[in-house]
Amino acid sequence: MAETGTTRKKTTRRRVASKKTQNGTLKSFNPRTGEVMREIATTPVGDVKEIVAQARKVQSEWAAIDPAGRGRYLREVAHNMYDRLDDISAVVSAEAGKSRHEAFLFDGIGAINLITYMSRLADKALRPEKVGRIAGPLLYGSRSHIEWRPYGVVGAITPWNYPITNCLLSFIGALLAGNTVVVKPSEVTPASGELVGELFDPLPSGVFTIIQGGGEVGAALVDAPCDKIAFIGSAPTGRKICEAAAKHLTPVVMELGGQDAAVVCDDADLEVASSGIVWGSFFNAGQTCCSVERVFVNERIADDFERMVVEKASRIELGAGDQEMGSLTFAKQLDIVTRHVDDAISKGARVLVGGPDAGIENKNGTLWYAPTVLSNVTTDMDVVNEETFGPVVTITRVQDDDEAIRRSNEEGVNLTASVWTKDRRKADTILKQLRAGALGANDHGVLPGYAWAPWGGAGESGFGRLNGVIGIREMAIPTHVAHALSPSMKKPIWYPYDRSQEVVLRGIAKVMAARDWGTKLEGIGEVVANFPKVLKSRL
Ligand code: NAD
Repeated sequence: MAETGTTRKKTTRRRVASKKTQNGTLKSFNPRTGEVMREIATTPVGDVKEIVAQARKVQSEWAAIDPAGRGRYLREVAHNMYDRLDDISAVVSAEAGKSRHEAFLFDGIGAINLITYMSRLADKALRPEKVGRIAGPLLYGSRSHIEWRPYGVVGAITPWNYPITNCLLSFIGALLAGNTVVVKPSEVTPASGELVGELFDPLPSGVFTIIQGGGEVGAALVDAPCDKIAFIGSAPTGRKICEAAAKHLTPVVMELGGQDAAVVCDDADLEVASSGIVWGSFFNAGQTCCSVERVFVNERIADDFERMVVEKASRIELGAGDQEMGSLTFAKQLDIVTRHVDDAISKGARVLVGGPDAGIENKNGTLWYAPTVLSNVTTDMDVVNEETFGPVVTITRVQDDDEAIRRSNEEGVNLTASVWTKDRRKADTILKQLRAGALGANDHGVLPGYAWAPWGGAGESGFGRLNGVIGIREMAIPTHVAHALSPSMKKPIWYPYDRSQEVVLRGIAKVMAARDWGTKLEGIGEVVANFPKVLKSRL
């Protein structure tokens, strides 16, 4: 079906179309038109164990390739992505409801950036690291290093909001670390999941497998069991996965959601802050784990800030092409957004722009919602207490920075948080007090796109890290390997527990922990004089 862009004034159509598994198929549905584009077969739940077993069979061969070699395979995938950039934009735009430009920007360029950057980091991340260079040889007669060894098979379970980039985010580090992966993309965007499978064609068979289906297929993957689970999704599903994984003691990474706060100080550049916060709230129609949901603005500049936000939000164009914002992706999301805004209005919130009276009418299953700014919100409202994950932002006036910090931390969960001020030192002071997994000064929303830095939450927004050196190491077991100083040498702590051993141990204790340098030097002398004796006199 041909699509044209739409504006807020345009009347659109709505039909509630289910994307749930039916008779073993998933529907790839266009939320801008209500059209079911394709049906895609689900993976039978009973097959999942065997798929994981196949991935386990080829894992040691994949791990035998060095990290740079695995990186080269992934760069082949990046070349594929470049060749198919327009396909990626088209599939994601049609299935996730994004404008073509946002699909291109976030799921095309974003994914290429992620894979290219991460594959170049692998060698550094996985290089063995020497540790305990002095204490090891003296105290235990050993030299130690850490090897970063793969877990085995990593099961990745992913959401629909960036169906290419977030899918890749969950498993690129795992592949680079030498794991094979079995990936279950969201049932809401199955055609994008299938496309990911095609893009990874350059990898050897069994190293990367896509399975399709809903929660039951995800649950079967956790229960297979895998050797590690990387989950990106909502906190309620995350809890279920943690419980299921606990049965097998499978380690998990949890990348969950938030209601991220932006603190706008009285010395902020309001032109920049209003642009950054409008973008940070509404990009991808607000369906971003780290979009701004709560703004705390200093009351001294609140009138000007609100006016600028409202003016910029009202200029956002909705449409399928080069417009700024597409539709929401699936019906449940529109229901949540509608419920949150209606509940807030019924409890006294003011709609500054957007909301139910913005002139949008959905028919035949379309899922449009206007960028919406609310003020006068209170802590009894759903929009404050739950993640909205849609094009809605609340603005709350505060007396000072301390109130903004306190309310940012206490009234919601932050996956990320930001501060807006011209004063760098003040920015750092405020960021140090905000509780979140990633922080931005005059920057919000793009942090998961920084493939060079660790990505993850704090508290209820999740744990574990993806991206960067730490993200690659997250998918590896840091294995301590200790070699005795010599294969022909007895260790200093072995029997007998005699006087010479005690002198050496006491000497080491002096070096490590004595308060004054005189005693430390005395300890060095005792160790040097007695160490060879100790080695010789072991049983
Ligand atoms: P969701 O929790 O509904 O689903 C996520 C995935 O889990 C899907 O693939 C789903 O099929 C699967 N699943 C559902 N039940 C399962 C079960 N019992 N066992 C195993 N798998 C199961 O989340 P969603 O609606 O797809 O995504 C939106 C959520 O994801 C939001 O909360 C958002 O903030 C969060 N998110 C977080 C990040 C991040 O990096 N922290 C990124 C994107 C989205």
